[in-house]
Amino acid sequence: MPATRAHTQVVLLGTGTPNPDPDRAGPSVAVIVGDAAYIVDFGPGVVRRAEAAFRKGITALEVTKLTTAFATHLHSDHTVGLADLIFTPWTYGRREPLQLFGPRGIKSMAAHIEKAYGEDVAIRLHGGEPSNPTGYRVVAHEIKPGVVFKSGSVTVKAFEVNHGAWKHAFGYRFETDSRTVVVSGDCAPSNAVIENCNGCDVLIHEVYSDEGFKKRPPEWQAYHSRFHTSARQLAELAKKAKPQLLILYHQLFWGTSEEDLLKEVRSGYDGRVESGHDLDVY
Ligand SMILES: [Zn+2]
Ligand SMILES: [Zn+2]
Repeated sequence: MPATRAHTQVVLLGTGTPNPDPDRAGPSVAVIVGDAAYIVDFGPGVVRRAEAAFRKGITALEVTKLTTAFATHLHSDHTVGLADLIFTPWTYGRREPLQLFGPRGIKSMAAHIEKAYGEDVAIRLHGGEPSNPTGYRVVAHEIKPGVVFKSGSVTVKAFEVNHGAWKHAFGYRFETDSRTVVVSGDCAPSNAVIENCNGCDVLIHEVYSDEGFKKRPPEWQAYHSRFHTSARQLAELAKKAKPQLLILYHQLFWGTSEEDLLKEVRSGYDGRVESGHDLDVY
């Protein structure tokens, strides 16, 4: 790789689900390109996980450098960290507003959060606390499929995925001059993931265990099969998407071990696959 190319890394900030697993923060992936960090989703714990990664040496995840974030969809497990992402870096010294990209509704969500914390902002700005007047602001962009962001060697493309009743749920494809990284977001098997990966370097995909699924009540089985992707379905998808590396995240185990979840995927797919954990770096 020529030295002039920006190094691209993937850092899993949170690999969890709506379930409050203390070992897995809410869903959040950081794509690092050189000294810039791009956050995809912001579940609970996002800023503390970023600080943990920073302390492990990922300097782009310094909290005051968290200035760009992309929401896949508005499910709360992916977005309850938004207030954290707006205010914690600000109180820590961030001066730049947060550039926030996401589906229709993200503007309203950001505006309501800003309003909800109005008293906090007023005290920090005018109550004698050292602060800056810009870092708590949000510039929200409601996006459509296609290229939604470009900066230097980084291009970010959003694509629609099938996430049950959600009208707008996106996956994201990051192209840099050294790697292509695709994040599925939450989805049932979606051709758009196959098309947008298409031999990509890294595919980060949600998954649930087929064995665990059998133990779920019928109403939940009906939900999961409409909204999410099983291990065997993911194996089929990966055969067509052909990623160099498939990373499982947002894993719903339902009592199945991590090893057995990997076996479920590997029984139908012989490419490289890893089950992600918080703070894993690829
Ligand atoms: Zn989710
Ligand atoms: Zn969801």
